[in-house]
Amino acid sequence: MRAVPRENTAPEIVVRRLLQADGFRYRLHRKDLPGTPDIVLPRYRVVIFAHGCFWHRHRDCSKATMPKARAEFWQAKFDRNVQRDADNEAKLRALGWRVIIVWECDSEHPAKLLKRLRAELPR
Ligand SMILES: [Zn+2]
Repeated sequence: MRAVPRENTAPEIVVRRLLQADGFRYRLHRKDLPGTPDIVLPRYRVVIFAHGCFWHRHRDCSKATMPKARAEFWQAKFDRNVQRDADNEAKLRALGWRVIIVWECDSEHPAKLLKRLRAELPR
């Protein structure tokens, strides 16, 4: 098992379902782009990352708990994840992509999330 689950996570599947039901065309896991974005909407030049709140350290989120055992190990690991995310986002922006982050906890409120996605992806 990989330490950081990357593909086909629950929040990602929620986003895909919402986009699909709304008629958006997208591609998945474009490995040629920095960070292999979960969802790519070429027409909008938008990439979407669906981030788990724990692994990607959603700020001020109750799901981003800190394990009590081996706190230093986890902190270092989390710091690397956050840094990697920031690096990938910067690279994507430099390539002209807009980056949308959907957090796991956002995906628990699909109606609200759909509203936001529609606002971010005007037709
Ligand atoms: Zn969260």
